[in-house]
Amino acid sequence: MSIVTLRLPEVKAIEPNRPTRCPYCPGETFQRWGGEIREVRDPQIREAVVYRYRCCQCHRTFRHYPEGIDQGQQTERMRVLAAVTWMLGLSYRGLSVIFAAFGSVISRMTAWRDVQQRARKLQAGWQAKKVRVVGIDGAYVSGWAKTQGVLVVIDMGSGEPITVGYVDEKDSQAVKRFLEPLVQQLGISVIVTDDLSSYKQVADKLRLDHQICQFHVRRWVGRALRELQQNLADEWQWMVAEVRQILADLPIEGDKRLIAIYRQLPASQMGRPNAEYTPVEKLRYVIIRLAENWERFRVFDLRPDVPWTNNPTEQVIGKMKMRARTVRGYKNWPGMASGLMVAGTGIK
Ligand SMILES: [Zn+2]
Repeated sequence: MSIVTLRLPEVKAIEPNRPTRCPYCPGETFQRWGGEIREVRDPQIREAVVYRYRCCQCHRTFRHYPEGIDQGQQTERMRVLAAVTWMLGLSYRGLSVIFAAFGSVISRMTAWRDVQQRARKLQAGWQAKKVRVVGIDGAYVSGWAKTQGVLVVIDMGSGEPITVGYVDEKDSQAVKRFLEPLVQQLGISVIVTDDLSSYKQVADKLRLDHQICQFHVRRWVGRALRELQQNLADEWQWMVAEVRQILADLPIEGDKRLIAIYRQLPASQMGRPNAEYTPVEKLRYVIIRLAENWERFRVFDLRPDVPWTNNPTEQVIGKMKMRARTVRGYKNWPGMASGLMVAGTGIK
């Protein structure tokens, strides 16, 4: 495991500076208008001083909170600590036990809310950002969603999850609806996915560049070619070797070379009913599928910010799954979504 530092929000027990602007009007001058000592839940401080001020212009009064403190009982630091502790594997019940040992009372409900709030903050944090390249993948874990999986979108730059959606990755309409506002908001121009056809349709409709994960491609093509090596007549064996070589090299005009090979194969009988495909037909299928997707294999070669596999997305999903295994009681989708976001983000 790598060493990570946990940066928690600063919390001040007292705010040394006066307010600079009125929450109600453009006023900039204030009189102190009393104050209070507030008990707070925090791992380091027990109390904080909250002053009230009165605006000289509109005469309204307001509380001026020290950094890390708001109207809630918990400090910002406590909320983040609760969410991160949960992410590391404690149950909501376990969390309240641990914090009690440090003299802080935190209920299961509070811990639950802290995780939700952390997730909302994480998601809101993306709103002001620009993200050019995202990885997308469906995730399936028993006990999450009943029949369909969830869709995970990550920023390829930082490797962190941007959002999770209750969306079936095979439903291209649903994926498009889910992705379109995100594409506009963040300025996304490339998606990295496996080679499901739904992603191709979405990329085309939203006019995105599309990198298909080369691990996925090599896995299924490798399997298909090994099988063909055993079943195909000797006269076609050189084609298997050639296709393998083209895929290994990923040359710019690989699709043209594939089509040239394809033309040397005998005409297809594909489409006749109730018949198994012959080895030659299977080879035709592999070649044509590679050729038609060729541009989507090579985006990484043209754009240095695009990875050639969807590995970073799979890593985030791995973190989510690891956490989900020990979590019981994702009662509803919003709760599940925020749990997955917090789990997938990790410590930072
Ligand atoms: Zn005012």
